[in-house]
This record gives sequence, C-alpha cells and structure tokens, in this order.
Amino acid sequence: MSLAENIPVLERELGQHRIERGVLLAPLTTFHIGGPAAALFRARTADDMVRVLQIAREREIPHFILGLGANILVGDLGYPGLIIRNEIAGIDFLDDVRVRAGAGVQTFRDLIDITVARSLGGLHHYVGIPSTVGGAIWQNLHFLSPPPERARTCFIQEVLESCEIFTAEGEVRTVDQAYFRFGYDYSILHERPDIVLSATFRLDPQPIEELRYTIRENLKWRDERHPDLWLYPCAGSIFQKIEGIGAGRLIDECGLKGHVYGNAGIFHKHANIIVNLGGATAREVRTLIELAQNTVRERLGYELRTEIGFVGDFM
Ligand SMILES: Cc1cc2nc3c(=O)[nH]c(=O)nc-3n(C[C@H](O)[C@H](O)[C@H](O)COP(=O)(O)OP(=O)(O)OC[C@H]3O[C@@H](n4cnc5c(N)ncnc54)[C@H](O)[C@@H]3O)c2cc1C
Repeated sequence: MSLAENIPVLERELGQHRIERGVLLAPLTTFHIGGPAAALFRARTADDMVRVLQIAREREIPHFILGLGANILVGDLGYPGLIIRNEIAGIDFLDDVRVRAGAGVQTFRDLIDITVARSLGGLHHYVGIPSTVGGAIWQNLHFLSPPPERARTCFIQEVLESCEIFTAEGEVRTVDQAYFRFGYDYSILHERPDIVLSATFRLDPQPIEELRYTIRENLKWRDERHPDLWLYPCAGSIFQKIEGIGAGRLIDECGLKGHVYGNAGIFHKHANIIVNLGGATAREVRTLIELAQNTVRERLGYELRTEIGFVGDFM
C-alpha cells in the first residue's frame, strides 16, 4: 500500500490534521538544505512516538526519525516517506544529581541551562552544539575536555545512566548505558532501529563558576573555529576523524579550504566543514564532498569517509 493510501490510517490513529504533507525539510535542518517530506508527524510525547512507529512498522511505511537535523544532509528531491520529528519534551530531576529528559529536548538550549543553574556539570561540555537528546545518544556526542589542558575527549556516554527506548522488536524498555556499546561517533543505534524516548543522566556537582568558565571557553573555541549557524548553515564535520591527522588538515593541505562550488563552500576556517552560503543545494554539497575525497585520495593517499547521514532522494 502506498504512503498516500496510509495517510488516512495515520490520521485516524494519531489525530486529524497531525499529518503534514509536502513539508519542506530544509528549515528543519541546520544545513537549511533539502526538499519536501511526503508526510511529517511531530511526536510530542513518548506515546506519540510509540504509536506512530507501531503503525509505520506494521504497515511498512518508510520512515525516518529527525531530531534537530544537525548531522544530516537531506536530498534536493526530499524524502518520499514519513518523517517523524522527535519533539518529546520534559525535564525532571529525579534526585540531587540525576535528571531525566525527553529525547526531543535540545541538549544545548534547554538541558545545559537548567542543569548548570543547579551547579551540575557533565552536559556543559557540549555547549554550542546543536542536538536533541536522542541525536546525542545516537552519535555519542563528544567534545574536548575543559581548558587549559584540553587533554582528552569527553563523551555523553560518561554521564548517561539509562534510557527508555522503543526497541526494534516493539517493546518499551529501560536499558543501561552499556546497552549502547558506545564508541567514537558510534552507538548500537547505528545497527538497530531502537528509538530513544528519554534519557537519564547522572551529573557531577561542581562550583558554578567552574562550569561557567568552561562554557565561556568552549563557546570562544567554537566561535574561533566553527561557523556561526546564523551566517553559515552547516552540519558540523562532514568527514570522520582520521586518528592523529585530521580530515580537515588533509583537505587544507590539498588547497581546498575556502573552495566554493555554486552556493556551497568548504569553510574558510575549518576544511572539514561545508557551509551553505545561501540557497545551496544538496547536489552542490555532494559535489564538494566528492571533490575533497578524490583530491585527498589522489594527492595524499587517504580515504575520507563521511560522518553525516544522507536522507532521502538526491539528484
Ligand atoms: C555547527 C555544528 C557543530 C557540531 N559540533 C559537534 C561536536 O563538537 N561534537 C559532536 O559530537 N557533534 C557535533 N555536531 C554534530 C551534531 O550536532 C550531532 O551529531 C548531534 O548529536 C545531532 O543531533 P540531532 O538531534 O540534530 O540529530 P539528527 O541530525 O536529526 O539525526 C542524526 C541521527 O540520529 C538519529 N536519531 C535522532 N533522534 C533519535 C532518537 N530519539 N532515537 C534514535 N535515533 C535518533 C536520526 O534518525 C539520525 O540517524 C555539530 C553539528 C553542527 C551543525
């Protein structure tokens, strides 16, 4: 059965007018690129998410879970199935150090603000990174440890205690941190279509001045090296880290930093980031990705692998 034939079923089960058709996906991503979704549903509660997934799985409707769209590139022809935007809200303190957040909560904007106000550290490292809680767990969100040493990489797994998930088999379960088999830019969610409904973090009480110092320094670090999303929409690093070398450094060595194709460009301050200079298409971004991969392979012999996800249909 086609998606169009399934829309009345989705509307009957999820509520009239909750299925939006032909919604442009570009504004729902940090790249501001991408065509329309055939259908879009905003899951505002865990029950919403479970119900829509049950229907989509039962009726084999192609679907994709979208957070803030900060780690994906959507094709110019859009997504031919159902986009499920994760907007599950809610932040609850379980005791003095543990906080539970809905998977659609934006780690930076909401959760960091509220936990730092209580002098709780652990999430503050990730200030300035656009992400929902669900997206952060999918990718094991990471950033450098506090200054001045910046001695190691901090990962969100370090403060994650447990998650409520809707499993690939269709059960709602609470799983602990070990379940996710976290690695660098990796969790088990890359292999299994389990969906995070909420996450519980165990945080460290820390003097608020220390937390504020790290936040200020991390925002400064980002400002010096990363694009300001207002000016340069992007999806963060395009290529996976190459241990000890850095994908950005290799692209820079090939003279591609600042290279522009159409309305997309390799960012002038950081060559592992491609930015939308205004009205860029996914095709232009893909052309720059291929240019970087081919040039680095031919000149330096390294294989650049993409870190971002590609969603929908590309020209
Ligand atoms: C300017 C900028 C800077 C960045 N800096 C960093 C950085 O320093 N460190 C870093 O680690 N990342 C960084 N990123 C990448 C990005 O912020 C993270 O990958 C982020 O976690 C993506 O979250 P999201 O909600 O936008 O996920 P999306 O991009 O919407 O989705 C990413 C993947 O997660 C899946 N997903 C989303 N929600 C769920 C859920 N509830 N359950 C299961 N799967 C789910 C999606 O289906 C998709 O496959 C940066 C990005 C930008 C734009």
